[in-house]
Parts: sequence; structure tokens; C-alpha cells
Amino acid sequence: MSQARVAILTVSDTAAADTTLDKSGPTIREVLAGAGYECRHLLVVPDDEPRIRHTVQTWADQGDVDWIVTTGGTGFGVRDRTPEAIRPLIEREAPGLVHLMMAASLQKTPMAALARPVAGTVKDTLVVTLPGSVKAVRENLEALLGEIRKLHSDVPGASAVNESVQSEHTHAHHHHHHHHHDHDHHAPQPRTALSHDPSQPVTTRHRESPYPLVTVEEALASILKEVEPLSIAEQPVTPQLKGHVLAEDVHAPQDVPSTSTTSVDGYALRSTDPPGIYKVVTAKTHNLSDALPAGTIFRINTGGPLPAGADTIIMVEDTRLHSTHKDATGADVEEAAVETLVAVPPGENVRAPGSDTRQGALALEHGQVLHAAGGEIGTLAFVGRRRVRVYAKPVVALLSTGNELLDLQDPKPMLGEWGGIWDTNRPSLQAVLEGMGYRVIDLGIVPDDLDAHVAVLKQGLEEADLLLTTGGTSMGASDLLKPVIERHLGGTIHFGRVKVKPGKPTTFATVPTPAGRVPVFALPGNPASALVTFHIFVLPALRMLGGWPEAQCQLPRVKVQLRDSMRLDPRLEYHRVVIKAGSGGLVAYSTGGQRSSRVASLSGANGLVALPPRASEGPSELKAGEVAEAVVIGELQMQ
Ligand code: AMP
Ligand code: MG
Repeated sequence: MSQARVAILTVSDTAAADTTLDKSGPTIREVLAGAGYECRHLLVVPDDEPRIRHTVQTWADQGDVDWIVTTGGTGFGVRDRTPEAIRPLIEREAPGLVHLMMAASLQKTPMAALARPVAGTVKDTLVVTLPGSVKAVRENLEALLGEIRKLHSDVPGASAVNESVQSEHTHAHHHHHHHHHDHDHHAPQPRTALSHDPSQPVTTRHRESPYPLVTVEEALASILKEVEPLSIAEQPVTPQLKGHVLAEDVHAPQDVPSTSTTSVDGYALRSTDPPGIYKVVTAKTHNLSDALPAGTIFRINTGGPLPAGADTIIMVEDTRLHSTHKDATGADVEEAAVETLVAVPPGENVRAPGSDTRQGALALEHGQVLHAAGGEIGTLAFVGRRRVRVYAKPVVALLSTGNELLDLQDPKPMLGEWGGIWDTNRPSLQAVLEGMGYRVIDLGIVPDDLDAHVAVLKQGLEEADLLLTTGGTSMGASDLLKPVIERHLGGTIHFGRVKVKPGKPTTFATVPTPAGRVPVFALPGNPASALVTFHIFVLPALRMLGGWPEAQCQLPRVKVQLRDSMRLDPRLEYHRVVIKAGSGGLVAYSTGGQRSSRVASLSGANGLVALPPRASEGPSELKAGEVAEAVVIGELQMQ
């Protein structure tokens, strides 16, 4: 059986302000490590109900731990809200475990009667709330572990605990006891988040990233799981609605056309009228609702309604002008009489009411994207829908990080001799975002400084639906994004490294806010990496927020024939290409050197060929002429 995994949450205002003050979290980690548990998460949050609940919920949803242990906030202090935060999440209570902890503590500490512990399962994860003091933590854990050990043949997982709480005796024969403290475990250093602590000297930074390397598929699955559609509101149907997604089925409010109309230019008459000379009336001289008098025909243009009594239309080509009305100068101004040259059967050139759309017919479905190509907005207007319910479109807060960066239009001189680097990512990402119809809040360039990061990220979280940063995600001591998200914003990092080239340090997190959970993407700083990872990872999140159907959230993939050979890397690689539509199908040309700092490899690129990882015995390149899959990121061109 694999090692059971635990997540530890310290709830404390003081420890959250200075994580070095947290003694209880590390104590739990140490005690449980001694019992053979692998500590997956170790986090400190303030005594804040939503933050506590969000963290526990996220861990339970992720399903990567068997047991969540919290410490702190279970007393009667004004700020003590841990039981209240967690109780609503509990699906199955475990009062036996509560009793066990109380009984053990009371033997040693009469004050323990004032603790208010909660225990039970959330999904497949056992959650137990311990008091805040190190002493109480030790007493409670001792009681819990003693009991749990008795019940299981190996280190317990939550599902096993869960079963045993319900049917203890059925498990009584499973008593193969192991000496868990002999396990050779590689416990992480005591710390409160996976990220390094940037307030410590550079010598304490990690030399190897603590974040597991996930595959592109795992990363995308995590994004689609964590991100939820924004709110729905009714909006007037105008061109501004493009890019929104319908949040309702749209039925035609009326027949289109609403009455009989003609599909040609000509004259309305009765199908019984033989060829001959007729007086001409028009909308100016004849009321539509009056029956057309015998001996007259009604001039009509394409799309116009038929007058009462008329049942067919003769095309203008089948008539001849007979006589005219003249003005004072003697010039012809109007037809007086026209000769019809043929007899016309009933209903000729007539469109019946509802022949385009019947009242009540489904015109567009829930989840339909109102594309910028115009067809859907046109449909809404055509059927006469004036207001519709749509999902809100996400607003994106965008910033670049790095002391070395210069704003292209407002360069501040650098200290020293070095001239710095032009901030490339903000303009390029703002362009692609706005091109896709998203509003962007430009938060500028943020220096590699903890307080500056915290302040600007908080601003972004308040104003936007998605936060997008570049730089500061690698292993440098000044790379602040992960620690700020975990330690200062109470966020959860869902992945911090991806098996992909370019884009390995791509980081995705969610941060709780009063309004909900805001997705945060910290993209790598290299310009080509930033743009590639935007298309692969950020766009699906934006679409998810905007209510797009999940199956359409990723950019489409097409088969292309390579026109250049492409080297394979041990990682999946997105090779920037120009895709052209040739007579034999789509072909792809490399944009040249793919170094991630070489942004020229992106200019002109409208596709990303997904090069498979090189197999150990496999070929080292895909040759020109071979077929591969490409993600389409821009408009296709003719060859
Ligand atoms: P970092 O992850 O911050 O270490 O950035 C990785 C590399 O990308 C460094 O060489 C940075 O100078 C560069 N870089 C970061 N942000 C930008 C940007 N906005 N524009 C251009 N280059 C950048
Ligand atoms: Mg940087």
C-alpha cells in the first residue's frame, strides 16, 4: 500500500502574518511523518471562515490527500471559527473520533472541555480539527493515531478510516501491525507552503522545485475542473454582445415573415387575373388591409407584404409598361397602367408567414457562442429577440514582473550600466486578449519586491475575473509569484510545473475573494513561452469563465503536413509554425529557431505543432512530409 497522504492547515491570525510563528503545523507534520504519513500540503491561513473553508474544500476536491488535519480556531475566542468554517463541508460526521479526542485530552487538561472539535469526511477525505496549542495537538494526535493504528494493516487512508468508523468489528481481524516510525520517508522541511519563503536569505531557496511536474493533459483537466462560469445577466441584443455565450435556449418570438411577403420585384394580383392591362396601385395609393379592387395590380418589392385579396406575384420581367402619369413639365413620374404578359398560378413568388422561422421554433441553443463572425447576433435580430441571457465575459488583469523590464512607451532609466529589457509580454498579451474580445486591465510592470507584488495582485483580484502575470515563476530567489499566492493571498496552487516546452514553470492557482475564486496564471517570462502557454492554458480558462461548453474551451487541432523537419525533445514541444491552406490540405512551415527567448519564432505563427516527446529508442526528428497535429492559434493563410 502506498504511503497515506496528509494536508495540514494551521488557522491563526498571528501565524499567518509571520509563518515562522507557526509551531503546531510543523508539530503535526513531524508526528505524522513519524507515523509514516507523507505531508502533501502545509499551509497557514488567518482565522477567516471563507479562507479556511476554501482551503479544505480545495484539498478535498483535488483528492490528493487522505487526511486533512487543521489546528487552531476551535475555542471560544471572538475569531475562533474553524468548526463553523468546516462543518458545512462535512458529508459524513465521525462523532466517535471527536469523542476519542475529547476523552484523551480531558484526562490531561480539564480546559479541553472548551474545545469544539469537528471530525468527518468530505468526499473521500477525512477532516479533523485539532486545537491550536502544541500540547493539545500532541495529545489529540496520540489518541487518534493509537486508535487508527489498531484498525489498519498499514498507514490509514481516509477511506479506510471512514469504513472503520462505521463497522469497526468487521475490520478487527486486519491487525497486521507495522512499525510506522521505521518508514524511510522523505519528509519536506517544516514549512507552511510548497513555495520558498522570500523573506529568508537566498541561501534558503529550493534548489529543486517542490512542485510535481504534471502533463499538459493533467494541467488542462485541472484548469477545466477549477474554473467555473461567471454570472449570467440579461443584455440587450447589440453588436457588443459578440464573444458572449447564450445562457438560455432562444425560441423565435414570432413568425418570420409575420405575413405573406414576396421574394421578387413585381406586382401582386389574383391568380385568376388573365393577361391584360391593369391599373397600378402602390403602398401610397392603396391600404394593405383593403381588398385589391378588380382590374388593379399592386406594385411590390422583394420582402414586401401582399395586400388583402392578392394571392400571387407576377415578376416585373413578365410585364410591359402601358401608360404613365406625368408631372407639370410633362415628365413621366409614375406608372399608370401595366400590361401583364402571362397568367400566374397561386402562391408564385410568395413566402408564407413563418416560412423562414415559425413562432416558438428553437433559434439558438444554450451554450451557443455569439461569434464575432456575426451569424448568431444576426439570427437573434432576424427572429426579433431584443434581449437575451448571456454569461459575463471575463475581465483580465495583466502585469509583467521583473526589475529588468522597461515600458516601451515610458522607459525609466535603469540604475548602473545595464540598459534593461523591453517589456514584451504585456503588449503582446494585451493585443491577443483584446483581439479575442476580452477587456484588459493593465497593471503595469511590477518590480521584484514582495510588498509591490502583494499590493498589485490584490488590486487585480478586486478588479478582474482572471489574473495574468508573466515572469517570476522560475527558481530564482526573486521569483515571487508562487510564495505570494500561497503565503499572502491564501491561494491554492493547482500546478506549478508542466512537462512541456516551452512553458515548464507555468503556474495555475485559484485565490479566494469575497466574490468567489479568481483563477491566477503565472506564465513564464520568456516572451515566446508566455504566448504559447497563453494559448494552451489561459485561453481555455477564459472560455470556461465565459460559459463556453467545455468541449470547445481548447483551441482546435488539425492535421498538417510538415514542410520542414523538426527536432524532437524529451518533453512535448509546441513548435511555432505558419499553417497554409494548400490544394492538398494544410501544410506547416517552421518559424525557425525555437529558443524560448526568441520571440521572432512567434511572429507570423498561426499554429503550434504538437511535437511528441522523443522516445528513448525512437527517431530524433519528424521529417518534412510527415503529418503532425497542430493547434490553430491564428487565421489560416492561402499557400
Ligand atoms: P523570470 O521567470 O522572471 O526569471 O523570467 C525569465 C526570463 O524572461 C528572463 O530572462 C526575463 O528577463 C524575461 N522576461 C520576463 N518578463 C519579461 C517581459 N515581460 N518581457 C520580456 N522578457 C521578459
Ligand atoms: Mg523575473
